[in-house]
Amino acid sequence: MNLFAERNTRIDTENAFKIGPHIARVERQKNAVIKLNLGEPDFSVPKHIKEEIKLQLDMDNTHYCDPKGILSLRKSISNQINKTRDLKTNPEQVVVFPGGKTPIGFAQQVYCEPGDEVIYPSPGFPIYESFINYVRAVPVPLHLEESANFTFSPEQLLTLISPRTKIIFLNFPSNPTGSIAGQELLEETAQVILAHCDPNVRVFSDEIYENIIFEGKQHYSISSVPEMAKRTIIAGGFSKTYSWTGGRIGYAVFPTVREANVFKNMNINYFSCVPPYNQHAASVAIESPLSKVEVKKMVETFEARRNLIWSQINKISGITCQKPGGAFYLFPNISGVCENLGLLERHQLLRGDDQSSPANIFQMFALYEHQVAVLDRKSFGQIGADGKHFLRLSIAADQSILEEGVRRIKSASEDLTGLEKFLNERPDQLPP
Ligand code: PMP
Repeated sequence: MNLFAERNTRIDTENAFKIGPHIARVERQKNAVIKLNLGEPDFSVPKHIKEEIKLQLDMDNTHYCDPKGILSLRKSISNQINKTRDLKTNPEQVVVFPGGKTPIGFAQQVYCEPGDEVIYPSPGFPIYESFINYVRAVPVPLHLEESANFTFSPEQLLTLISPRTKIIFLNFPSNPTGSIAGQELLEETAQVILAHCDPNVRVFSDEIYENIIFEGKQHYSISSVPEMAKRTIIAGGFSKTYSWTGGRIGYAVFPTVREANVFKNMNINYFSCVPPYNQHAASVAIESPLSKVEVKKMVETFEARRNLIWSQINKISGITCQKPGGAFYLFPNISGVCENLGLLERHQLLRGDDQSSPANIFQMFALYEHQVAVLDRKSFGQIGADGKHFLRLSIAADQSILEEGVRRIKSASEDLTGLEKFLNERPDQLPP
């Protein structure tokens, strides 16, 4: 008798979390690691939000609450969505989840039959792809091309749509590329969807980075295109905008109350509710004018870091990097480095490990020999990723740390002797 059910082999993971034990080992055995792998802002939760959490705790607001989310927060979310996207949602269409991650897997369980097709961005947040096989749906990656600054064309999407398409995930600003999609692209995309998809096909628009956009540009949501609100799930959260990843508050706004109630029932089945003291503070985060000031400061800091690190990383021989329009990531192309270090040939010698890649060898080498943690392309969708050599660098750290990180990446990119040693020893493959 097997211990584990077969379905466990059909779910993947998020490497941003999995790399943690490797970092801990390097720090135990060698030196402190420069961590450019993190997907969370490096700021404190704004003071007025923290004060509200404390106040709520002191008021003993620590019990079960509405599984759909407390009404005051759902009202705040619905109003904000209506204001920023020119929509007419009501709080009953809103469901609060523990983070922006939860509705991704739930949506696949709620909408997909086995054999249904799920279109999702690649490179993209790994959880989209992770759940597809789990629910026995069929993954259909929408490749974000470097040549299109990591967006896609409506024609490209059209070639992927079939009668079995059930969900289309979109994510702008994008993790891991930082790309943003303009209004024109989203309007054309919407026309393709309206013309070629059944009305029951859902667009899951993950807009969790909507407030982290540079050069004064405004976020545009596909839900704002006429007729699209009926087909779009708008997903968002508090982890990135308020630097509050540990608060575990996210939400989704559904096209209908009927759908929202199905997700509420998922909440009841899985975790009952999200901590009410955090939900009250999340409502304050939306409503307080102080939040705007804090978010603006954070975005300006990210933009200054982006400018600096983008120009420095592009100076490394063998690396080219597009300029991201939002989020807090850079996604450099390291094909030249892989060539210079002979990683393509070396990777071919490693058989039977399809999670590996030349960029993955570089990632592990950079961590173990140069103490800088980044993530490779395959951490953001595996299907169709062969032959694509990229890294994701997070700029969620102080400028001096980021600059040291770039110096270490440069050293790694030139260190053939160190690479030889690393490949002989493969310390990353030793048991923990
Ligand atoms: N969507 C995207 C695109 C993300 O990058 C993340 C976090 N890295 C999430 C969802 C999940 O966010 P949370 O921590 O709120 O669950």
